[in-house]
Amino acid sequence: MHRLIEGLRQVVGIADTRSPRLWCGLGLRVLERACAIAPFFLGFVWLQGGTTASLLWLTLGLLGLLAAQLVCSHFGQLNSFLGGYELMHGYRQQLLDHVARLPLGALRQERIGQLGERLTEDVKRIETIFTHVLGELLAALTVPLLFMLVLVWVDWRLTLALLVTLPLAFVLLNRLSGFFLAAARRKQHSFMQAAGLLVEFIAGLRTLRLFNRAGAWRGRLDQQFSEIERHSLGVEVWGGSAIQLYRLCVDISLVLLLLTAGLLANAGQLPVLTWMLFALVAPRLLDPLLDVAAYLSELRGLAQAQGRLQLLLDMPTVEEPLQPVTVQGHDVRFCDVSLRYPEQPEWALRGLNFSVEPGQMLAIVGPSGAGKSSLLHLLARFHDPQQGRIELGGVDVRDMRLEQLYGACSFVFQDVQLFDASVLDNVRLGKPEASLAQVMYVCGQAGCDAFIQRLPQGYDTPIGENGQRLSGGERQRLSIARALLKDAPILLLDEATASVDPLAQYEIQRALSRLAKGRTLIMVAHRLRTVRHADVILVLDQGRIVERGRHAPLLAQGGLYAELWQQQVG
Ligand code: ADP
Repeated sequence: MHRLIEGLRQVVGIADTRSPRLWCGLGLRVLERACAIAPFFLGFVWLQGGTTASLLWLTLGLLGLLAAQLVCSHFGQLNSFLGGYELMHGYRQQLLDHVARLPLGALRQERIGQLGERLTEDVKRIETIFTHVLGELLAALTVPLLFMLVLVWVDWRLTLALLVTLPLAFVLLNRLSGFFLAAARRKQHSFMQAAGLLVEFIAGLRTLRLFNRAGAWRGRLDQQFSEIERHSLGVEVWGGSAIQLYRLCVDISLVLLLLTAGLLANAGQLPVLTWMLFALVAPRLLDPLLDVAAYLSELRGLAQAQGRLQLLLDMPTVEEPLQPVTVQGHDVRFCDVSLRYPEQPEWALRGLNFSVEPGQMLAIVGPSGAGKSSLLHLLARFHDPQQGRIELGGVDVRDMRLEQLYGACSFVFQDVQLFDASVLDNVRLGKPEASLAQVMYVCGQAGCDAFIQRLPQGYDTPIGENGQRLSGGERQRLSIARALLKDAPILLLDEATASVDPLAQYEIQRALSRLAKGRTLIMVAHRLRTVRHADVILVLDQGRIVERGRHAPLLAQGGLYAELWQQQVG
C-alpha cells in the first residue's frame, strides 16, 4: 500500500502541475457515491417518527440528493478526466524532456522497442489510473467506511458483524498480492523482451531473410510468446486466487450479518426499521468494497509502470551550462582522454592526447574494435569520458551548450538517419531556413541532384521510414548534402564502406572532398587510400594511440600502419 501511495506521489511530483481540477473531480466522485446511499438513511430517519407534514421535506430532500448525485457525477467525471489528462500532460512533457537530454550513447544502447513501449504503454497505464481508477477507488473505500460509522450509531452489533471480516480480507489481499506482483513483473518483463525482439525482427527482416535466418528468429519470437503465455497464467492464478479469497471474506460478512440479525430478532432486540436499513444498505456498502481488489491491482500496475519510467528518469542526462560560453576558434584538443563504457571491464580508450588545428585533416585508423568510432562519438558527446577533457576552441565540450557544440560540428556517420518526409525536408534538417535553391545547390555538390531528379516528385518525394526507398550510397550522399547545407567549421566523418558499390564509393568520395574543403576534418578511415593526404594520421590499437604522423613516414616506420596498408593495398 505504501508503495502504491509512493507511486502516485511520484507521478504527481514529476508532472509538476498543480491540478486542482483533478482533486476537485475526485472529491465530486466521492460525493456522488455518498449521495447514492444517503437517501436510505434519510428515509430511515423519517420512518422513525416523521409526520405527513414532513413528507414534503423528505421528498424535497430525496430529490435534492438525486439532483446532487447527477451534478456530482457529471462534473466529477469531467473534472477527473480533464484533470487527469492535465497531470499526465505535465508528466509526459517531463519524460520527453528527459529523454531528449539523455546522452545519445545511452539511447543507442536502449532497445528502441522497449523505450517506445515504456513511453507509450506505461504512460497510458498511469493515465488510466488518474482518469478512471483513482476516483472509483477513493469512492469505493471512503464512502462505505464513512456510512459504516453512521451504522454504528444505528446498531453497533450488526455493524460489527458487517465489519469483522474486512481487516482479514485486506490483509489477505495485501499478502497474496506480493506473489501476484512478482508474477506480473515476470509477465511484463517477457512482454517487453518480446516487444524489443519484434521491433528488431521487423527492422532487420531484410537482412534476416537474405541470410535465411528469418525462420530462426521466428523461433526466438515464438519462444518469447510462449514465455508470455506461461507468465500470464501465473498472473491469472495468483491474481485470481487473491481476488477470490478477498471477495469471499467480504461476502462472508453478509452471512455474519444475517446470523447476528437472526440471533437479535430471536431475542426480540431487532427493530424492523433497523433490519430494513441494514438489509438495504449492506449490499450497497459491500459491493464497492468488492471492486476495490480490482482497482488495487490496477494501481499496482501503476506502481510498476512508474518504477520502470523512474529507471529512465534516473538515467543521467547530458549536463549543460545555462549560459553559452565564448569559444575561441575551432581547434580540437584531446587532453589525456580515457573512456570506459558502463559495465565493461576494459577501457575502450586510454590516455589520448592530440590536437587538430583549424582546416587540418586528422585521420583515425586501426584494426576493428580499436576504438575509432568511440573517439569520434566522444566529440559528439554520445558519451563523456571518465578521465581527461576534450576541448573545442579552448573550451571543454562539457562546458558548452549542446546547440553550440552541434552548431560547430557536422556529422556524417555510417548509419545515416533519415526521416519519413520529403527529400527536401530531410536535407533541410541541416538548416531549416534554407531556400529550395540552396538545397538544390548542395545536393548538386554532394552528387545527389541526378538521382533526386529521377524520383517521381523530385525534391518533394517522400523517402519512406529511414529512407527505405533509397540505396545506401544515395542515403550517404543525402547526409553529406545535409552537412554541406549546415556549413559547420568542423566535420566529423565515419567513412562509409559497407553497402555501397565502387561507383557509389567514388561519388561519395568526391562529395566528401567538396565537403571537407576549408573545414577541420576528423575522420575514421576504413580504407587507407583515403588518408594518404591527411595532415595527421592517428593509429589506434586497443584504445591507445600507437603511432602518429603522415602517411609516408608511417609507412617507412614499418609498424602497425604499414602492416594495415600491406593488408589493404598489397
Ligand atoms: P572501432 O570503431 O575501432 O571498430 P569501437 O569504438 O566501435 O571500435 O569499439 C571499441 C571498443 O568499445 C570495442 O571493444 C567495442 O566492443 C566497445 N564498445 C563500442 N561501443 C560500445 C558500447 N556502446 N557499449 C559497450 N561497449 C562498446
